[in-house]
Formats: sequence, structure tokens, C-alpha cells
Amino acid sequence: MPKNLKGKDIADIIPDKCIGCQICIGECPTKAIEMVGGVAKIDPELCIGCGKCVDVCPANCILFEKPRKKKAAVAQKPALAEYKGVAVFVETHDGRAADVSWELMGKARELAEKLGVQVLGFLPGVSTEAIAKEAIAYGCDVVYVMDNPLLKMYLPKVYGKALVQLCNEVKPEIVLIGATPLGRDVSSVVATIIETGLTADCTGLDIDKEQRLLMMTRPTFGGNIMATILCRNHRPQMSTVRPMVMKMPKKDPARRGEIRMVEFEGYTDPLPSIIDFIPRASDVGEVDIARVPVLVVIGKGACNSQYFPMLEGLAHLLGGTVACSRPVVQAGFLPYVRQVGQTGKTVAPKLYIGVAVSGAVQHLVGMQGSERIIAINTDRHAPMMQIADYPIIGDYAQVVPQLIEGIKARVPTLKAGSAKL
Ligand SMILES: Cc1cc2nc3c(=O)[nH]c(=O)nc-3n(C[C@H](O)[C@H](O)[C@H](O)COP(=O)(O)OP(=O)(O)OC[C@H]3O[C@@H](n4cnc5c(N)ncnc54)[C@H](O)[C@@H]3O)c2cc1C
Repeated sequence: MPKNLKGKDIADIIPDKCIGCQICIGECPTKAIEMVGGVAKIDPELCIGCGKCVDVCPANCILFEKPRKKKAAVAQKPALAEYKGVAVFVETHDGRAADVSWELMGKARELAEKLGVQVLGFLPGVSTEAIAKEAIAYGCDVVYVMDNPLLKMYLPKVYGKALVQLCNEVKPEIVLIGATPLGRDVSSVVATIIETGLTADCTGLDIDKEQRLLMMTRPTFGGNIMATILCRNHRPQMSTVRPMVMKMPKKDPARRGEIRMVEFEGYTDPLPSIIDFIPRASDVGEVDIARVPVLVVIGKGACNSQYFPMLEGLAHLLGGTVACSRPVVQAGFLPYVRQVGQTGKTVAPKLYIGVAVSGAVQHLVGMQGSERIIAINTDRHAPMMQIADYPIIGDYAQVVPQLIEGIKARVPTLKAGSAKL
């Protein structure tokens, strides 16, 4: 095998077999091949021995054996059966836990009961005592607390290292993480380091009791089908779930559990220092539709500025606000922060009023946790009408004024925002 100037093996062309197609010339990243007398010729000074020319040669006239990548020595992992328990990463901000962590605690309880194991909490941070107790009140059996000044502010590498340490020491079979910006970030760091599978943005979690596997369901192929994903060969099985997808469990302050302190091994690499976080300009002053009890959701069929004050009036009358489907955002009618659905926000209001929303699956996955659903649509067969508690067939421009009148008539003294649901 010929070598280049650095002594690395390079490709060798068999001139008799070369058909002069010049495909290898186009493929070579270092322009090391030229045509000489109708036959390709490699310049050893330029060739880096990447072997790309070999892959494309239609005449198999290039001799080259690609060096095999040496596999990094992988530390021996414990057997799958050694992993036990359903863990939830308890995400905190300014001394408060993210609601999604408690929603996941409720789900973890359900999964753990099916498996006959404990619910575990992974709580890295500072001054976390009150949150650890709260975790128990929401269904956790054992909270592993890592209290360290390095964990005061979220940094992916530091939090990643803390969670990896907890996973390695505690060995949970399942780890659930909220699909918040922080959760999405840290979950991928952890899954990559411990070499396990991670299913993001799950909308359903269950247990295959026979195989003791976590069944992680999420929309796929642009939301057109729901896929249930299994992680058979690696532990822990990791999943992220968006806020408001799982139901918030009841808090029981009398519940008993255990708090175990874990020493953080620390982080020795230099750390970046964050001076401040600047909120996104588009979000400043915007209402969080995920936290509002009543949503009047405007669909493409009601994307009309003439009727917007009427729809906003209905929302205010009920103490709520307006949200929308994706085409309404795409039309520039409402900002993205108002979008409900797979690529928008997940909402679970007490009352969802869908006005001319068809109910595409990408929209439904973002609102199916709503307590009561009213749908107004001219098409009785629209999917939203099938899942609605109160489907109203008709033109919204006629239905909504009657709805407003009806509400005002039932509660004559009603002031905007004072309706009791
Ligand atoms: C990868 C991907 C991600 C997506 N993410 C999201 C997402 O996060 N959120 C989202 O909403 N969509 C999302 N979509 C788009 C989604 O597939 C649908 O196209 C969208 O939800 C449809 O919005 P719509 O119901 O408002 O409009 P349409 O489907 O066009 O429905 C309009 C409805 O209005 C009714 N109507 C019309 N006129 C009237 C009237 N006068 N009175 C009463 N009813 C009337 C019609 O009968 C119809 O049912 C996504 C798509 C993809 C591919």
C-alpha cells in the first residue's frame, strides 16, 4: 500500500481497470486526484488517506483498506437486573420546584406500583430541604439530595455530572425528566454519558409488566402516528415529558419518606460564569397560556380580525385568555407563545373552547388533558368535535354571541373574569 508524506496509507489506483469516469475527482476533499492520459492518478503529497474515492468508484479500481476505528474501552456496566426504582429529576428554579417534576412524581408512583419498586427523587441544588419534603408529599419514597454550591445555578456539564453520579450510584431502572428547556438539555447530556436511550417529549408512559419495560409513547412522523418506544438493552430507561401532559397528583403533607444526602463528587474543569439571564423580548408581558384556567382557542376558520374582540371578550368573561392553533401563528395573527400543540405549548385548562379548530393530532397532543372541552365547528366530523364534551355545530360568528348572551343571562351580574367554573 503506498503512503503519503506523513507515512499514512493512501489509495492506489489500478490503471487498467480505471474507466475514466472522474467521479473520484469530484469526491476527493483535498483535490489529490487528477486525470493523466485518461486514467485517474493520486498525488501522494495531497492525499490524506480518507478513502472517500474508494466508496464512489464504480469500477472498483481503487485499492485501499480503511483503518478501523478502535473502540474506546467501555467500562463494564452492571447487569440490567441491578437497576431498580423509578426516579424523577426534581428541577428547581429560585428555590422552587418546577410543577412538571410533581406531575412526573405522580406518574412515577403509578409506574412504580406496577413494577413493585420505589419512587426515587433526584434533587441537585442548594438549600433544598423544603423541596425534598415536598417531593415526599407528592409521592416520592426516597429523595437523594445533592446539596452543593456548585449546583446553585444550572450549568449543563455540572448538573449532567451530578445526575450521572446519582444514576451510577442509585441505579434506577427508569429516569423521568420534565421536557423544560433545562430538562431537555440535561437529559441529553446524561443519556450520552451513561450510554442509554432517551425518548423525548413523551405523551404517554406505561409498563409492559411481562418484560418490565417502560413503554414510552410519543408522536412521530410529523405527529401523524403515535410510536411506542422501548429501551430494551440499556439502563436507565430515560424519558422526558412536557409540562401539563401528566396530571398533577394530590399533595399529602402527612406522607412519610426518606431523605438521603449524597456528596457531589464535584467538577474540576473551569466553569463559565453567567452574569444574568435576559428574558426573550417576545415573552415579556405575554401571558402563559399553560397557567390560565380558561382558553378560547382560535383556529384557522376563525382567524379573522373582525371577530377577534368578540372571542377575546368571551375569554375575559370567563376569566381566561385567547390561544390558537398553528396556522393562526403562521398567518401572523397571534404570537407563537399563544400556540397550543406539539410544536407549541401543552395546556390543560379547566375549560378549553375550540373555535373553528379542526383537531389535527399535532394540536390534540397539546390539549388532551383539558378538563372540559367545548368545540364550535361547522363540520360535525372534525376530530375536535369527536373528543369534545360539548360539540356545537355551527358558524362561530353566530354561535359565540349566543354563548356570551347565555353566560351573561345565567349570571346577570357577571363582570369580566369573574365567572366561577
Ligand atoms: C410537525 C408538525 C407540527 C405541528 N404542530 C402543531 C401545533 O403545535 N399546533 C397546531 O395547532 N398545529 C400544529 N401542526 C399543524 C396541524 O397539522 C394542523 O394543520 C393544524 O392544527 C390545523 O389548524 P386548524 O384546526 O386551526 O385549521 P384547519 O385544520 O384548517 O381547521 C379549520 C376548522 O375550522 C372550521 N371552520 C371553518 N370556518 C368555520 C366557521 N365559520 N365556524 C366554525 N367552524 C369553522 C373547519 O370546519 C375546520 O374544521 C403541526 C403540523 C406538523 C406537520
